[in-house]
Amino acid sequence: MQNTITLNDKQIFTDFDWLHEHGETAFKEVNTTAYLAKRLDEMGIPYEQFENMTGLIATLGSGSPVIGMRTDIDALRQTYQGKEGVFHSCGHDAHMAIVLAVAQYYVDNPADLTGTLKLIFQPAEETVTGAEKVIKSGRLPHMNYLYGLHVCPEVQVRAKQAEPIIPAAATRTYWVTIKGKTAHAGTPELGANVIDAFSELNEKLRRINLDTKLPYSVTTTMFQAGKSSNIIPDYGTFAIDLRARTNDLMDELQQRAFEAMDSVQTDDIKVTLDGNDFSPAAIPSQKAIANMSSAITDVLGPAGLIDALDTPGGDDFHFYAYDGIADETTMLGLGCNLNPGLHIPGMTFERESILDGARMMIDVVRLTRN
Ligand SMILES: [Zn+2]
Repeated sequence: MQNTITLNDKQIFTDFDWLHEHGETAFKEVNTTAYLAKRLDEMGIPYEQFENMTGLIATLGSGSPVIGMRTDIDALRQTYQGKEGVFHSCGHDAHMAIVLAVAQYYVDNPADLTGTLKLIFQPAEETVTGAEKVIKSGRLPHMNYLYGLHVCPEVQVRAKQAEPIIPAAATRTYWVTIKGKTAHAGTPELGANVIDAFSELNEKLRRINLDTKLPYSVTTTMFQAGKSSNIIPDYGTFAIDLRARTNDLMDELQQRAFEAMDSVQTDDIKVTLDGNDFSPAAIPSQKAIANMSSAITDVLGPAGLIDALDTPGGDDFHFYAYDGIADETTMLGLGCNLNPGLHIPGMTFERESILDGARMMIDVVRLTRN
């Protein structure tokens, strides 16, 4: 089937190069959004922008099924070779170039589209806050299918290979304050030392043991307390990172973490949750995975289709299924010989794989029926 997908390679690489050079961080993707809007105008595709938010949603075709395709559009502020800048070290530049290629294909070949295609150019994936804002904007209809994609490191997936699902973990970050009672260091019994309370809590978190073979983790990643070497510290802050393979397991893990935090509280020690960042786990859809597997086989041949590897990474793509706005969802894990890894400035991959990715994302839409 892939032979019938003709791409404008030159335009795809022009889009990629421009987007690559103009990375912008979460919710600041102003020039990126303007570029995407300009390209959609050139193709004559209608789109909606958000009020007071970057990103946009383009619409092709009409009727049922409603098929969504989402690309993230943000980049990361990092230091590379001694200079601070904003870099597309997570490959969202390639994702955008691919979704623009999908747009071009369905403008040129409207008969290949059954139903409605919603192209979602979503801001702020890196802060896992963009998807929920897009959903809450009310600008999306209920979608029968939703497809996404992500470039994969070479250690996971090589070029000319792809996964029909990225089994992303649920991730949660707690931002916590712990308050105690100060005293002179020489009379610790008169105070309540937040470092002691935190040590006890950390031990309890490390001992959390769930009855499952699925991967999960609880890790304290930040802790700050104390300003003077001779005073009992009465104030501290810390962060805990939770990861679990499924959303149910995350609920259980969260319950256990709360119990641990409760258990160290006394009359003088108070633990309060200041913030909670969450990204749900992938919710596997057999229908969407079957379509994506067929698209991979069509484009790369049977040898290109590989079994998905567990990844501890999260992606706010999974909010669309978690919040119920999309029924059948999956993400393509695109192999492109990416090295040394995601989020590492100076990361590179094989450009030609962008064309494979475009063909697979075009094909999966063609294969999607009610
Ligand atoms: Zn990413």
